[in-house]
Amino acid sequence: MIKVFTTRKDFDHYRSTLTTQAIGLVPTMGNLHKGHISLIEKAAEENDVTIVTIFVNPKQFGPNEDFDKYPRTLDEDLARISAIALLINAKKDLVVFAPRSEEIIYPKGYSTMISVGPMTQKFEGSVRPTHFDGVTTVVYQLISITKAHTAYFGQKDVQQCLIIKKMIKDLEIPINIYIMPIVRNSEGLALSSRNQYLSDSERVEAMVLPHTLQKVEKLIRTKQDYKTFVVETLKADNKWDYLEVLDSSNFETTTDLTTELVIVAAYRAGATRLLDNILVPMNLGK
Ligand code: AMP
Repeated sequence: MIKVFTTRKDFDHYRSTLTTQAIGLVPTMGNLHKGHISLIEKAAEENDVTIVTIFVNPKQFGPNEDFDKYPRTLDEDLARISAIALLINAKKDLVVFAPRSEEIIYPKGYSTMISVGPMTQKFEGSVRPTHFDGVTTVVYQLISITKAHTAYFGQKDVQQCLIIKKMIKDLEIPINIYIMPIVRNSEGLALSSRNQYLSDSERVEAMVLPHTLQKVEKLIRTKQDYKTFVVETLKADNKWDYLEVLDSSNFETTTDLTTELVIVAAYRAGATRLLDNILVPMNLGK
């Protein structure tokens, strides 16, 4: 049985009863798919208590973005989490914190924003300039409220992972961060709550994203000229917001010290922006 809290009072009371040093946090915006489920299962495996938060965070949406139409499916989400609860050790707690209003996370008069700096203005940040400040601010609040010991995030949002790790380091927040691999559908498209916005034809078009990343990966692994392929790909189709090969540790251009590459891309299929990335160990790329 899962425990569901929608108010601070009830959640804080529950949290005050916990003595374990193994509390896992899985922050989500709901509309759960197998990508989210993989994070929840991992957290439930590793912790005595797993807290899944479901909160569509207004601060991470720009003024013309999809905050209003973002899919909110709490009943289905609770059913999926309940199904996980049946499979884990009955002594463990699986808890959902789904604040019923914005004020529960940002009380009246709340004004602090956390900004990690230049890393938030590149790639996703160049298209969504206030997005990452909204993400770090809500993640900070969720860590403060839950006082979790480990937080779980998905590699799918690789830039977000780096920015959150930087915040944790800079602010010396006592929490471990665990990154889970990207979960894809049978065709190879990375799962995303936004995939449901795609029409049938856009869904087919979207496959150019994983296919192109796979092609770049193959060129790197076989030590061929991937840079020309990237330039040509970007030139041939204006639906790419970016397609780049970077040092995975800092999202900068690769250097001799780079140990792992990340191929990152954002592609627009119709009005939907899709993100994807692939990690490649550098000793293969040299
Ligand atoms: P969201 O609900 O979009 O805020 O995502 C919540 C968490 O799930 C984030 O840490 C995401 O990176 C992660 N996530 C989203 N899609 C996937 C996926 N396809 N595979 C693994 N993790 C994912």
